[in-house]
Amino acid sequence: MLFLAPKALAKERKAKISPGNLGLCIFLQEYVKQGLLVPDDIVNAILKKTLPKDNFVLDGYPRTLSQAKLLDNIAKIDKVIYLDVPDAVIIKRLATRLQCPKCHAIYGLNRKPKRDMLCDYCNIKLVRREDDEPEKIKIRLEQFYKATKSLLKYYHDRLIVVDGSKTENEVFNEIMAKLALKS
Ligand SMILES: [Zn+2]
Repeated sequence: MLFLAPKALAKERKAKISPGNLGLCIFLQEYVKQGLLVPDDIVNAILKKTLPKDNFVLDGYPRTLSQAKLLDNIAKIDKVIYLDVPDAVIIKRLATRLQCPKCHAIYGLNRKPKRDMLCDYCNIKLVRREDDEPEKIKIRLEQFYKATKSLLKYYHDRLIVVDGSKTENEVFNEIMAKLALKS
């Protein structure tokens, strides 16, 4: 199963952090800082090494048609979920997102810090993430739509479209309902 949605790259990066691949993380971070996507051959090499045999969910990957085709050779992808969110909603969500520079907890419209601009755990001032600057969000969205157009076409027979502008619970319920219908 796949999730197609912008903004997931940072999560992908976080999941891969361990002492053994710290060098790789720092390298990937350079791309994220510039608001760019990580090149195909690097991500493909990581996946070949780390992907389980079955029962897994990929979030934010593949980003390109060539990645999707390669992925079909590595694993069986049975369902693809597309979280459809209007640009204005994405920009508003990201522009209001704040992060703790120490513990990396993320705050936003749905999760406000208990004290204004201060991390609930560390009591230090929250900052906006470098890749959440409006100009960088726009670059990411343009790249996302360009790449996703061909992905949606490629996956059309396995595709489930979900309205991602709703609340977390509503989105979850819609995904579960549509998955049940399709299986
Ligand atoms: Zn903190």
